[in-house]
Amino acid sequence: MVDLYSWLKRADSTELLYLDNSYLKTVSVSLLDYACDKPGKCYLVFDKTIFHPKTGGQGSDTGWVRGESFEFRVEKALMVGNVVAHYGRVVGGELPVKGSPVTLELDWEPRYRAMRLHTAGHILDYAVMRVYEGHVNTLEARHSPPDAYIEYEVKHASEKIAEEILREAARIVEEARKVRAFWVSWEELSTKIYNAPNLQRLPRTSKYRIVEIEGVNAIPCTGTHVSNTREVGRVELVRLEETVRGLKLYYDVD
Ligand SMILES: [Zn+2]
Repeated sequence: MVDLYSWLKRADSTELLYLDNSYLKTVSVSLLDYACDKPGKCYLVFDKTIFHPKTGGQGSDTGWVRGESFEFRVEKALMVGNVVAHYGRVVGGELPVKGSPVTLELDWEPRYRAMRLHTAGHILDYAVMRVYEGHVNTLEARHSPPDAYIEYEVKHASEKIAEEILREAARIVEEARKVRAFWVSWEELSTKIYNAPNLQRLPRTSKYRIVEIEGVNAIPCTGTHVSNTREVGRVELVRLEETVRGLKLYYDVD
């Protein structure tokens, strides 16, 4: 059995390519290291990656690692400290020597769907604030299928309110607003964000990635998003659930 945490603590940080370009489907990287817990079942570490690990309410990407003489199926990506470990199985050949060039390839369909769902989440945050006419914090969120949801800290809910939220969301989608990501320092943060929930929970670091839907909101976020709200498609409400703390809105995109 691999002592994953102590092994990964020694590894170099992984460069997260999806932060600057969420549309990269394939890329050449260097296989820095790997460890196997059973024959053929291994954790792979690269110098950089396009695989989004399970973190920040977004699920893990899946896909492939290929080299001259092997094929490896990535079943999940995990973030440990600053390192992304790609867990999966060798499906052909043998892993090459450390330092070899390999190609990463995402299962694009589920990833693109996660990008649409995640962007829909930001749109819903805005729509909820509009409908409740004030700042609303989120309590929990999952932006990946099945059962994507956001839990909001609000006191009352109704079908009518849900309809209004969806109408607002549909308007933002229709307006085809640009979505962009950029980096700011701690000092710049307060001047760049707007309509952003949960700022009191934001950890203190030297820089932040802000995801802005032009004119709608600018939120610190490390997930993957589409570049125009039109790509989200139709935002649908799956069900509404009143919870002890607020309102859980299960949603989907069509
Ligand atoms: Zn986000």
